[in-house]
Amino acid sequence: METARPDDLRAIEAAALRRQLDYARTASPFYRRKWDAAGVDPGRVGAVEDLVRLPFTEKRELQETQEASPPLGDNRCAPLDQLVRMQATGGTTGRPLRIAFTRRDVDVYNEVGARAAWAAGLRPGDVLFECMNYALYAGGVSDHMTFETVGACVAPVGIGQSRRLLEIIRDMRMPVGLYATPSYALHLARMAREEGLEPSELGIRKGLFSGDAGLGVPGYRQQIERTWNLAARDIWGMGELGALAAECDVADGLHYLGQGLFVAELVDGRTGEPLALADGAVGELVFTTLEREAFPLVRFRSHDHVRVSTGTCPCGRTGFRFAVLGRSDDMFIVKGINVYPLAVQDVVYGFRPELTGEFQILLDEPPPITRPPRLRVEHGEALGPEELDRLRDRLTRRIQEVLVFTPAVELVAAGSLPRTERKAKRLYRLYQGDRP
Ligand SMILES: [Zn+2]
Repeated sequence: METARPDDLRAIEAAALRRQLDYARTASPFYRRKWDAAGVDPGRVGAVEDLVRLPFTEKRELQETQEASPPLGDNRCAPLDQLVRMQATGGTTGRPLRIAFTRRDVDVYNEVGARAAWAAGLRPGDVLFECMNYALYAGGVSDHMTFETVGACVAPVGIGQSRRLLEIIRDMRMPVGLYATPSYALHLARMAREEGLEPSELGIRKGLFSGDAGLGVPGYRQQIERTWNLAARDIWGMGELGALAAECDVADGLHYLGQGLFVAELVDGRTGEPLALADGAVGELVFTTLEREAFPLVRFRSHDHVRVSTGTCPCGRTGFRFAVLGRSDDMFIVKGINVYPLAVQDVVYGFRPELTGEFQILLDEPPPITRPPRLRVEHGEALGPEELDRLRDRLTRRIQEVLVFTPAVELVAAGSLPRTERKAKRLYRLYQGDRP
C-alpha cells in the first residue's frame, strides 16, 4: 500500500469509502442526523473527490453527543460486547473524548501504526522503551501495540520512571530504542547527568518521537541527536485515528501512511475550501476512516496545519509528505500575521547557548492583539546587564525579520521556566485563565 500507484490506490479507496459511508448511514444516528440536517446524501459519494459534498466533523460535536447520550454518544456503531478497548483523547479544549475500538478497529490501528514505526526505523530485534503516558492516552498502550505488531520488544515505561529507566538501560549494555516526546528526551538527559551518567554513552541509538512537533525544529532535533548520539525520527498521529505518518531514513518530511485505511484531504483552515495535495500547498489535514466499526469518522478536522511536498523519495514510498506548521488552536494572529509557537521556537533555538531554548508566549488580551505579545525567554548563564540588553534587542529584531511581528521580550534566568516530561506548553492565553 505504501508504494502503490496513485491510480490503483484511488480505486481501492473509493470502494472502501462507499462501504464506510453506507455503514455510517446505517449504524450511526449521529451521522444520519448530521447529513439530513445538511441536506446531503452520502449515497451520492462515488469517488474520493466527492467527499467534499459532506460536512466536516468537529471534535466538539462528538463531545456534545457523548454528553447528551453517554457512555459513547450517538456515533457508537458497535454493540458493547464487540468493544475491546477504550481510550480518552485529550485535547486543548473541552472534556476528553471517549473512543472505543472493536478488535478489527484495533487491527487497523496496529497496521497503520506499524507502517509508521517501520518507516521510522523500528525492526524486530529492537528493544524499545516507551516513555509515553499510558493513562488513557492513545499514545500509550495503543502505540505500544503498534510496535509489537512490527515485532519489536517493547518495554512499557510510562512517565515518572526516569531513574529506574536509566538504571535498566545502563545495566542492559546493548543498543536500545526510546519512544517519547522530544521534550522528554531532553528531560531524561538532564536526569542522567544528575545521576552522573553521560547520555551519549547509554546506548540509546534509535529515537522515535511523537506528541509534540518539536522535532520539526532543526536546532531541537540536532540537540536531541547529539545529546544521545541517536538517530531521531518523527511519528505523527491523532488519538482518534492512530499514527498516520512518519519520517523514513531520508528524514525529509513525514510520509503519509494511511493508504487504504483512511482518506486524507487538505483544506483551507479558515474557509474549509478543499485544496489540492500539491507540492508546496499549505492547509489543514482532514481525515475520513475507511474501515472503522465502532466509531467511524467522516471528514474529521485535525486542526493541524501542514506544508505538503510531493517529490519522489528515494525510499520508494509514494504517498505525499508533509511538515507540521502548528495547530490552529496554537496559532495566534498579530496584525494579520499568523504566528505558530513552533516558528518562535525555531528562532529561539538559533540563539543557543545565549538562550537555553526554553520560552513562553504570554497573550494578555483576546484577539485582535493590539500590543506586542510577551515572549518570556530564558537566557544562558553568566551574562551581564549590558549583554542582556543587547541580547534582548537582537532577539526582538530577529523575530521581526523572520516572523514579521514584534514581541515584548522578557529575559529570565536559566532554569526558571518549568520543565516537563510531557508535551511542552509554549502558548498561554492569560485572558482565558491559562496559568504559566
Ligand atoms: Zn521516504
